[in-house]
Amino acid sequence: MNYEDFDKLKAIYTGLIELVCTAKKSDTLNERMDCFFKIFQIVRACLEFSPYTHFYTQVLIDIIVKTYNTKVFRTDLLLKSQIGVLIENPKYYAKEFYEELEENPYTIELVLHTFTDNIDKVSDKKHKEYMKYFETIRDLLIENLMDKKIDLIKRLELISKYSNNSIVRNLSVPEKLYLYETKRVFDIHYLNTNPAHALFLDTKFKTKYIVDKPLSFKEKRLDVEEIVKIMKEKKIVAEEVYELENTEEQIRFELFKVIQNNFVINKCENCGRLFIPVTSSNNPNQKGRNDQKYCNNLYKNTGKTCKQIGALNKQKQKVQNSLILKEYNREYKRMHGLHYNHTKEFKEKQFKEWSKKAREIRNNYNDEQLDEFKIELKNLSDIYWRS
Ligand SMILES: [Zn+2]
Repeated sequence: MNYEDFDKLKAIYTGLIELVCTAKKSDTLNERMDCFFKIFQIVRACLEFSPYTHFYTQVLIDIIVKTYNTKVFRTDLLLKSQIGVLIENPKYYAKEFYEELEENPYTIELVLHTFTDNIDKVSDKKHKEYMKYFETIRDLLIENLMDKKIDLIKRLELISKYSNNSIVRNLSVPEKLYLYETKRVFDIHYLNTNPAHALFLDTKFKTKYIVDKPLSFKEKRLDVEEIVKIMKEKKIVAEEVYELENTEEQIRFELFKVIQNNFVINKCENCGRLFIPVTSSNNPNQKGRNDQKYCNNLYKNTGKTCKQIGALNKQKQKVQNSLILKEYNREYKRMHGLHYNHTKEFKEKQFKEWSKKAREIRNNYNDEQLDEFKIELKNLSDIYWRS
């Protein structure tokens, strides 16, 4: 994500605020339901944008909805989200009563219920006040997301630096986690438990198992083998997922997975972005492809990937370093210019013939034979153009 992306996200959030407000102020349930589904689409669009938006979008919607429902600035929800955003204006400070109030879990039924809850008419003045508050929240959330992104990159950069280092690679996963924790990549609470002197990695990742299609009661009563058959037929996908409570945990989780999988991370020498080199397997024993210098992202408005740009630069450098190539290129430019300005006397066919022969000569010489090369090339050119 770059700064432009954050601007786009700000625009999406502005639209989101408007939509949720419209829903809360509308008179009919139908209208509210309509908004509800539109909001779902926006939430999904945000996720495609960056998986990190999840907790931010959730808390933004929650604050808007519950502020309308309770007629109180619901800054307590910001604290409860553990995103780590602090609000400066005392007007928006969280009310103690709400701070202690336990929130409903985010199940679709409960979210929908809160969302469609009927509220009293809101005056225009109140609405304006609310809007200001929501915009403040929006800006703080985006600012925080930017900070977190920068922070994540810093932490990944350190991992990247040692990701292809065999001494580090050969450590066990817990050893690596400990190593990076000491280097402050993690802020995991390693507990020092006396007298055992053991260290524990304190993660809160909850492992859950999910399936995409349920079995009917009737199906569940079948034999095991029958059920397996149905699972295959229905193409039921069962997966292991992790439940993460907040963004910091999401970041830790990603770093954890990077370390656990021993990924090599390189820094693109063109754009500076971190990337995982594409190998048949990101396997340390299969050396060679892990040293890719350029990423496969499109670079700015060039329409070329960094890898393509890298290849071009390499070619350029080769030319710059080779005296023969430099000489050849100079002569090529001169002859091309002559052909270009005298297309009748020095026709395209002749120029092509010249360049073919010139290339052959070029390939027969090395940098130590520069003088001989110059003479032979000049002799060739003289056949085509006498100056
Ligand atoms: Zn790049």
